[in-house]
Order: sequence, then structure tokens, then C-alpha cells
Amino acid sequence: MRAVTRDARAIWLTDKISRAGFSDIDSFSQRFELKPFRLTQLYRAATKELAASVDAVTTLPKELRASLAEAGFGFDAVEPVAVQHSNDRQTTKGLFRLRDGSEVEAVLMEHHGDRTTVCISSQAGCAFACAFCSTGQAGYTRNLTATEIFDQARYFARDVAVRGKRITNIVFMGMGEPFHNYDAVMDAVALLNDGQGFGLGSRHITISTVGLVDKIDRFADEGVQVNLAISLHAPNDTLRSQIMPVNRKFPVSELMAACARYVAKTNRKVFFEYVMLRDVNDSDTCAHELARLMAGHLYHVNLIPYNSTPDAPFAGTPDPRIWEFAAILDKAGVPTTVRQNMGRDIAAACGQLRAETQPKAHASR
Ligand code: SAH
Repeated sequence: MRAVTRDARAIWLTDKISRAGFSDIDSFSQRFELKPFRLTQLYRAATKELAASVDAVTTLPKELRASLAEAGFGFDAVEPVAVQHSNDRQTTKGLFRLRDGSEVEAVLMEHHGDRTTVCISSQAGCAFACAFCSTGQAGYTRNLTATEIFDQARYFARDVAVRGKRITNIVFMGMGEPFHNYDAVMDAVALLNDGQGFGLGSRHITISTVGLVDKIDRFADEGVQVNLAISLHAPNDTLRSQIMPVNRKFPVSELMAACARYVAKTNRKVFFEYVMLRDVNDSDTCAHELARLMAGHLYHVNLIPYNSTPDAPFAGTPDPRIWEFAAILDKAGVPTTVRQNMGRDIAAACGQLRAETQPKAHASR
């Protein structure tokens, strides 16, 4: 296995330093006469201690803090521009602006009990155009850097810390296709996972993909314990190509073969997401077909109630029908769960808040 080790401290410093206009850590260190321990201090203050800003790190000399700030070196690559809470206060949605004006979303879900999950974005927009997805309808703007991804988690980690809580799970289910921005996403995973920094166990991180077969194979070789979720949404090529154009490049049989290779190599379970679209993919026939795809493998199906969006002509399957569909899978021996719906009143599905505030990317070109 070709395990990749990524140096989280170097990833963080390189990204923050380049934002401040420096090409590498050495030239930055020379400019501010920084010893390596100072760089470590900055990294830990931002990622582990979750300090508000460079200026809040009082263990650094005051003049140094001032000159770093002046040079444009800061802890946050994303700026919250709108924060909404669901009526039950369990879901908080943040819209974040990046330096070039692009906007991405992240959602905090505080489940009953001890689970606190953040759903983060890996790209501004998305190139894959899934027919039911608000982000997909808006088109692709650009990749996020590793710290633009990580800082969404940092924002909510600071937010919950005030209430004595910590983030227990991160899912890459916000805007964008994580495997279309592979290296920055894996760098962000290293930042989230670093025991000297943010310190979130890799088993608590999930990457969700539209099913890029070549990247699934690459991911299987990473030697990380991060969970893999596949957005399947349809059990055959005819239907899947209709709602997910990516299927024309990577059809169901190739996708399933890649998942089988992944399990064989890693011995880790694969999660399949299946968004329930009324009269589209919720028939008994679809359930039986899906059950056949899942049979005999280390697979788990997560049925997702659809959050309707104004720009996509789909309706969600009614709850009783979702449970009937689940029962067919269950009877066939497929481990199945139905996703708890959160934040519907604040349009917390992928791309929805941004859709309200920004024009479609292709419309603005
Ligand atoms: N590009 C990745 C991750 C982002 S989308 C992927 O496709 O997996 C995260 C999940 O939300 C995907 O399963 C996606 O299909 C689903 N999704 C998109 N729009 C949705 C909506 N309106 N309601 C429910 N789920 C949605």
C-alpha cells in the first residue's frame, strides 16, 4: 500500500504564507526573523487552540503580531457573511466569502447526544451538474485551497467551543466534488486529522463523491481510515445518466467494480447515498435493483430525503414511501438507514443559501 504522509503544519503554513504573498516558508521566516518554534506556535494557535486571530496569540511578541497582520498573514481564509439558525437551533448554516468574492456554504448539525457534525465545501460551485442539486445547477467556479476548506471547520469549532462542545464529525458533503479537488481535499483531511493540531480522528471524517472511478482507486491507496461515501442515487445506467451526467463517463458497473476494489484493498465499508426523488428512483423495481448491486458486499445504504430546491424540477419521495423502499432493502439483507432531516427551514441542502444570494455561475460569464 502506498501510504501518503502529508505534513499538516507545512500544508497550513504554505497555504497561509502564499495568501500573504510569500512563495515559501523560508523566505517568510527570514522576512519576520521567525525561528521554527514560532511557526509551530502559529500553527497550533490556529488549529488546536482555535485562537480568534494572530493578535490574540499573546505568547507572540506584540510587534511580530502587528507586522504579520500588516503583511496579510491571518488565521481565517473564509469570512462568514450570513449565518442562519434553524428554528430548533440544531442546525446552523454559514455562508462564507472567499477573498476573490466566491461564496461557499458549510452547515453545523448539533444532533441530540454528543454528535456535532460539520458539512463542508471543497469547491466554489461544482462541475458535475447533477440534475437535482442546486450547486450542480449553478456551475463550477473554482477549487478551494486546503485552508479555505479547513477554515470552515475551524469557524464552527470556535463557535461550539463557546458552549463547551467540540466537533466530532466532518463530512465533505457541501458544495463541490471533493475528488475533483483531490490534493487540496487530502491536505485538508491532514489538517483536520493532525494530532498536534485540530485532532479529529480520521474515522470521523467522510468524503462523499459523485463516483470518480480513477480517484476512488487512488483513495484506496492512501492508507487513511477516512470513510468513503458514494452518491449513487440510481441503480442502473439509464436512470443514473439522466440525473447524473457523470454516469456517462463512469457507468454503474465500473463504479461498483471500483468500490469492490476499494473494499478488497482497505477492508473498509462503503456508504452509498441514495436521494429519494418522487416517481424517479423510488419504485419497488429500483429498490430490488439497488439491493442486487449491494448484495454480498461490505456496503451500507443511506436513503436521503430530498430537500426540494427552486431551480430543480424534482419532488421528494413522501416519508411513508421512503420507509417502504427501506423495508425492501432491509428484507434483502442490505444494511440501510434513512437520513435524519435537519435544517429544512433554512434550506440547508447543498448550494441552497448561495443560490439565494448569488447568480448562477454560468449566467455571470
Ligand atoms: N459532490 C459530492 C459531495 C457534495 S453533495 C457528491 O456528489 O457526493 C453531498 C450529497 O448531497 C450528495 O449525495 C448529493 O447528491 C446530495 N444532494 C444534493 N442536493 C440535494 C438535495 N437538494 N437534497 C438532498 N440531497 C442532496
